[in-house]
Amino acid sequence: NVTEEELLADPVEKIVSAKGTRHPSIPLPAALFGAVRGNSEGLDLQDAMTLEDTASAIAARADIGPAPADSTVAEVQTAIAAADAAFEGWSRAPVETRAAALNRLADLLEEHRIDLMALAVHEAGKTIGDAIGEVREAADFCRYYANQARAAFAPIELPGPTGESNTMRLEGRGVFACIAPWNFPLAIFLGQITAALVAGNSVVAKPAPQTPRIALRAVALAHEAGIPKDVLKLVVGGADVGNALTGDPRVMGVAFTGSTGTAKAIARSLVADDARPIVPLIAETGGLNAMIVDSTALPEQVIADVVTSAFRSAGQRCSALRLLVVQEDVLDRTLEMLKGAMDTLVVGDPADPRTDVGPVIDDAAYRKLEDYRLSVADRWLHTVAVPEGRFVAPTVIRLDCIEDMTKEWFGPILHVTTWKTGTLDETIARINRSGYGLTMGLHSRIASRCERTVAAARVGNLYVNRSMIGAIVGSQPFGGEGLSGTGPKAGGPHYLPRFAVERTVSIDT
Ligand code: GLU
Repeated sequence: NVTEEELLADPVEKIVSAKGTRHPSIPLPAALFGAVRGNSEGLDLQDAMTLEDTASAIAARADIGPAPADSTVAEVQTAIAAADAAFEGWSRAPVETRAAALNRLADLLEEHRIDLMALAVHEAGKTIGDAIGEVREAADFCRYYANQARAAFAPIELPGPTGESNTMRLEGRGVFACIAPWNFPLAIFLGQITAALVAGNSVVAKPAPQTPRIALRAVALAHEAGIPKDVLKLVVGGADVGNALTGDPRVMGVAFTGSTGTAKAIARSLVADDARPIVPLIAETGGLNAMIVDSTALPEQVIADVVTSAFRSAGQRCSALRLLVVQEDVLDRTLEMLKGAMDTLVVGDPADPRTDVGPVIDDAAYRKLEDYRLSVADRWLHTVAVPEGRFVAPTVIRLDCIEDMTKEWFGPILHVTTWKTGTLDETIARINRSGYGLTMGLHSRIASRCERTVAAARVGNLYVNRSMIGAIVGSQPFGGEGLSGTGPKAGGPHYLPRFAVERTVSIDT
């Protein structure tokens, strides 16, 4: 065992001789990206089919047809009116009825998984591994919230003086607007909706303009599962449709995942009208997520986790690693291995099961990321060749200091800077000062450093000695604070009450 004092004296050599081995580079097995974790009661979506069969079934569904037309403002208003009228009946239904519908939806998602995965691949550019995870997470949300609701919505008897009964219960708020991002067009889309529904709300849902087809399919399955058509309405479009939705005084709550700027605009629109009730905003936005690596960390594990965290899903996850902060002593070694691992990445067609990194979502995203990447070409530490198309090359960019990380680049672009031995607390404080607070990673084998990071990190999700993406429903409740969101944790035990009002009834008998 190496003490912290010994490490401070000679960080690299002590650890290398005590525990580690060095590798100039490691090949990164494609299996790393294929490995999808989940906790759906032992569900393995690939049980019945090999990966090759899955891939050819997905390839056969490449024709996804035209996108539905955008909703008009009048259609948004009609949808809200219908959901408003349907609210009362749905909220009075026993929680068991609502939970059962969610469980049926989970079954239907699994049954139709190939169609849904094909839409995730062909509409959203997801790799097959990510598409499997997408369906699994959506089904996990349904089952998890169904279970949570049974306990959360049971009335609670409270003490009182003799002759008085006190009961507290949760109830739906009314019409909830659920506004989803394109990066999890099924999982987050349905996660918001099922939480709102099982809490007794009716819902008007708006998917991202880039991914309406998979949303349409998901809503059709929800209706098939027994959720009445007016209880769940879908509207399609961009900012105009979103504004018509959140600006409507009949909307009694908003669940939103997307950019910090849009979350703030929604917050303003909710308070613009003095006559409107005060309604909650549940927002999950972006982050400037950092991972701290020290000289005691296992190099191979660090590299595998960095590559997964920064480049899986083409870096298009809110949770993705944006800034790697490496202890100065091991920077060269880390970069050398990182380059080796990046050179084995397969970038290309998301429908090909060998692909690790697919395209970015659309031309606008491609232009933005590519313009940035090219503008800092003098600071590239490494990049890789990519095919023609909307493929942004996984790239590592050198920053002089933590404070130079000022903007979330939502793609496979990793920034690297260093920290000096003896400055861990200051390093965490500097990362915290960005104001974002979604994910943070730490790789260290020193218990006291882990404890200090746990105590000091101001993030919703801290990942120690593992990758920092892929939060699992029920195990890693997900969501950030500060500029990263309003705090509620999707897939966690306190999520559903955020969608409800609490009522207490006291009766003197
Ligand atoms: N829950 C996802 C993860 O852990 C990220 C969600 C998001 O990108 O919004 O990777």
